[in-house]
Amino acid sequence: MKTPAILVINAGSSSIKFSIFSAAAVPGPEDLICGGKISGIGVQARLDARSADGTVLADEHFPENATYDELLARLLAWIETRLVGLELVAAGHRIVHGGRDHVLPSVLDEKLRDELRRLIPLAPLHQPHNLAAADALARLHPDLVQVACFDTAFHTGRSEMETVYALPAGMTEDGIRRYGFHGLSYDFVASRLEAVTGEEGGKRAIVAHLGNGASMCAMRNGRSVATTLGFTALDGLPMGTRSGAIDPGVLLYLMEQKGMDAKDLTCLLYRQSGLIGLSGISSDMRDLLASDAPKARFAIDYFCYRAGREIGSLAAALGGLDVLVFTAGIGENAPEIRSRICAAAAWLGVEIDEAANAEARGETVISAPGSKVAVAVIPTNEELVIARNSRALVQNA
Ligand code: ADP
Repeated sequence: MKTPAILVINAGSSSIKFSIFSAAAVPGPEDLICGGKISGIGVQARLDARSADGTVLADEHFPENATYDELLARLLAWIETRLVGLELVAAGHRIVHGGRDHVLPSVLDEKLRDELRRLIPLAPLHQPHNLAAADALARLHPDLVQVACFDTAFHTGRSEMETVYALPAGMTEDGIRRYGFHGLSYDFVASRLEAVTGEEGGKRAIVAHLGNGASMCAMRNGRSVATTLGFTALDGLPMGTRSGAIDPGVLLYLMEQKGMDAKDLTCLLYRQSGLIGLSGISSDMRDLLASDAPKARFAIDYFCYRAGREIGSLAAALGGLDVLVFTAGIGENAPEIRSRICAAAAWLGVEIDEAANAEARGETVISAPGSKVAVAVIPTNEELVIARNSRALVQNA
C-alpha cells in the first residue's frame, strides 16, 4: 500500500512555493519529503527543489513567457516522478483572505473558489494568485481534493473592540472589519511557544512576523488577541513594498488634489511604498542592511521605530508582556533588526543576550538571563500547518 502524501502550495505573483509531506500520521517537520519553488514567473521561470536533507533535486529553467498552467503542469509532472511509494491524497493551499464567512479549512471546490474570488480586491497581491493555482490544479488534476487554509482564520475570536472600525454600524455588518493576516504562521509559532520559551502557554506574547509582508500578533495563551493588519494586508508596520498604517486623509488628498484614482492608489500603497518607497533602493532588507546610503539607513531606522511602537500598542492590549518572538525572513535572519527592536522595547523589560542573538539558528532563546520578558526566534512553518489541516480534513471527510 502506498503512503498518503499531501502537496502544499503557496502561490504568489512571481513564485509558486510547494512542499510534499508524508501524511501516514499527523505530519511533523520530520515528515517533509521535499520542497521548492517555481520563481521568476512572468519573466524567466525556474524550478528548484530540494529534499528534506537539502540535496538538490531539480534546477530547471523554463521557456520565456510560459503560462501559469504550463508551469503548474510541469511542476505536477515533476512531483509525480518523486512520488514513488506515495499517493497524493490532497493539495492544501494557503489562501490569504477568507473574509467573514470562511474560517475553518475547507474543500476548495469550484463554488468556494468563486466565492473567494470576491475577496480579490481585499488582497490584490495574493488572493488572485492563490486562486489561479487552485484553478489550474483543478483543470490538471480534477480528482485531487484541494483544501483552502486561511491566513485570516487564526484571528477569529478576537473581541469586537479589536475587530470593528469606528464606522457606521451597517458597514461592520457588511464585513468591513479588521481581519488580520499571517495566521498560518502565527498558528505554527503558537504551537511552539511553550516548548521554546518555557513560559506556560506562552502567557502574554507578541509574535513579530517580519518578512516581505510584516505584522505582529498579541496572543494570550496562544490565541490571537490583537494584530496589526486589518481589512487588507496594508495596515500596521511598513513592509517591503506596502505602506503600513497611513492617515486615510492622505488618500483623500491624493484623490482630490492630485487626481489619483483607485488603481493609482493600489499601486502606490501595495507596490511603491514601505522599504522600497522610503529607501528608493530595495524592498529587500538584506540589500538595505548592506547599503551605506543614508536613505537605506533611514528605511531601516523607520522599520525598527514603527515595530517598537507597535509592540507598545500590543503590550497595552495584553496588559503586559511575558514573551516576544521573532519569525519570518527578517525576524529569523536579521540579528541587527531584532536587536534594535528589542532596544525599543527595553522599557517593557525586554533585554537580550547579544551573543545569543548574533548566533541564533533555528529555535533559540535570545533573552538575557535576567530579562523580565523571554525573547526567542522561532522559524515559522506555514506549510506544516497547511499539511496538518489538509490531512485532518480529508481524514474526516
Ligand atoms: P515572504 O514570505 O513574506 O515573501 P520572507 O518571510 O521570505 O517573505 O521574508 C523576506 C524578507 O526577509 C526580505 O526582506 C529579505 O531581505 C529578508 N531576509 C531574508 N534573509 C535575510 C537575512 N539573512 N538578513 C536580513 N534579512 C533577510
